[in-house]
Amino acid sequence: MSTQYVVGVDLGGTNVRAAVVDSSGKILGEARTDSKAMEGADVTLGQIIKAIRAAVADARVSEGEIAACGMGIPGTVKNAEGLVLWSPNFKDWNGIQVRDPIAKAIGAPVSMGNDANVAALGEYAFGAGKGARCMIMLTLGTGIGSGLIIEGKSWNGVSEVAPEMGHHIILADGPRCSCGRYGCVESLCRRDAIVDRAARKAHQGRYTSLIEKSGHDLRYVTPAMIAEAAREGDQVSIETLEETGYYLGIAVANIINIFNPDKVIIGGGIAQAGDLLFDPIRRTVEVNALYEALQVCEILPAALGDDAGVLGAAALALQSLGVSL
Ligand SMILES: [Zn+2]
Repeated sequence: MSTQYVVGVDLGGTNVRAAVVDSSGKILGEARTDSKAMEGADVTLGQIIKAIRAAVADARVSEGEIAACGMGIPGTVKNAEGLVLWSPNFKDWNGIQVRDPIAKAIGAPVSMGNDANVAALGEYAFGAGKGARCMIMLTLGTGIGSGLIIEGKSWNGVSEVAPEMGHHIILADGPRCSCGRYGCVESLCRRDAIVDRAARKAHQGRYTSLIEKSGHDLRYVTPAMIAEAAREGDQVSIETLEETGYYLGIAVANIINIFNPDKVIIGGGIAQAGDLLFDPIRRTVEVNALYEALQVCEILPAALGDDAGVLGAAALALQSLGVSL
């Protein structure tokens, strides 16, 4: 098989990143532009095309050598029609045709997916999920994204909405979630929930090194700071990760009982906390998952970091060309 180059695009509310990738997942060139999210769809589509062209130039290949393009987009994506139905980060993205103008500009077919689903495909193809028959990934950030890969294919449900594992309810009388319901995993384990958990302990008068780390303003605490403080032995941060790990463990146990996967991958800034987060997750899973399902499942941190988006988009493009991953 001749070498096939594809472009993976990771569209975010701040930046659009594009990378030229070969079929082994090697990034040959990349570029980043401002996504200009509030300036309308035409401007953002122009920025995407600019990023793709700059990545192609950086990789020192010609545009004609790009066989396909994949895109990860935050929001509700209808790949079959090339539409983005809704995207929270972009002004007036309601039923926008994204695929056709980009395909026309670069002269290659374009496939699209929800950014969390696409990142999961990236981990499956080139990262911690390699070789899994059934892989689920949770990405912990502002919200909780998720992806489900079964027998090498991303499963997005009948109307391309699934999976929304961040909105499965694990504490029926829990805090209100961004979706309007109560006690979803996201309401307990998203970025702000983790930071609030640490801040509440500090407000009870307990000492924590997060006070210094945040410049004496706990509003500026980040999950990465909590991970760092916990590694340094800060008790408030350790307990924050313990409690977060407990809720994640309940979520992961449910996921294991429903899907019987061989890998559950957890990504996002807080996953950098390592065993301080994964130990409570694994302990909770051991108590709550069904024995036979538990025996075959590994729970692992994501391996690709910020590259999961562009590599997953490239994997989507490779799949559209019939390459099996
Ligand atoms: Zn929810």
